[in-house]
Amino acid sequence: MQGYALIGHRLGHSLSMDIHRLFFDETGLAGGYDLIELDEDRLPELMSFARRSLDGLNVTIPYKRAVIPFLDELSDTARRVGAVNTIENRDGRLIGHNTDVHGFSALLEFGGISVRDGCAVLLGASGGAARAVMTALLDEGVSRLTLVSRNPNGRRAPDPRCEWVNYAALNDMHADLLVNCTPVGMYPNVHATPVPEAVAAQMGAVVDTIYNPEETMLLRHAKKAGARTVNGLYMLVAQAVRAQEIWQGCAYERALSDHIYERLKEEIK
Ligand code: NAP
Repeated sequence: MQGYALIGHRLGHSLSMDIHRLFFDETGLAGGYDLIELDEDRLPELMSFARRSLDGLNVTIPYKRAVIPFLDELSDTARRVGAVNTIENRDGRLIGHNTDVHGFSALLEFGGISVRDGCAVLLGASGGAARAVMTALLDEGVSRLTLVSRNPNGRRAPDPRCEWVNYAALNDMHADLLVNCTPVGMYPNVHATPVPEAVAAQMGAVVDTIYNPEETMLLRHAKKAGARTVNGLYMLVAQAVRAQEIWQGCAYERALSDHIYERLKEEIK
């Protein structure tokens, strides 16, 4: 049986084990997936164990950058993002990947949102999740990407299409897409929203990478104004299925992610 695990500092609310259990159930493959909580001083020991005994690893907060020195190789995407969320064990060689980029592009497709030649706004752009979202948006062909931070001064634009601004700059900004990569609005702070309702109402589509609650205040405001909206759950499923594609060395139909997403949504209701 194949053995996989997710490593992170606190994993109490993680849905990863559920998603991979559903993956094994849907595909009929025999595999186990564990959650491993650890402090940073145990990372070297865990990485040696993974090299000897696991077929693959997922990595979450706060180790997506910290694992890089333990790897033998990085995929192009992981190198561009500067973070690893999936590790492939190829006969004892550890290869780092980043499947959050694919997860976000799959979420856009799932939500029927196209950003090619459009303008996008990214909230919380200095954070970890945003690095993958930024890479995906640039790859998807945005013409302008506004990166929003509470402290934008002195930050370097990663691409000529990007500029850093603070939240005040959003008051008069209309865009095709706004993506929330801040934790604002996440359970239990469900009444909080990262931007005022009037700003949400100026966007053609809004993606909240948060998936708990199912509809954040931000999404509620945007939907009320007629915008297309989608939460982050499909991204979580799609990045996990992409990790399995890497581990299994094959590609799956989109229907597999759709089935896992529907079953997961039902389970967590
Ligand atoms: P993070 O690093 O803690 O926060 C991201 C950024 O948000 C920070 O760098 C900060 O930027 C801004 N921020 C933090 N607290 C804020 C506040 N109170 N008000 C305004 N801005 C604030 O988090 P992360 O790990 O990147 O995750 C961000 C979100 O993405 C989480 O909600 C998580 O659930 C979601 N996520 C979803 C998926 C998925 O698959 N759907 C995957 C990963 C993460 P500034 O200080 O520059 O303003």
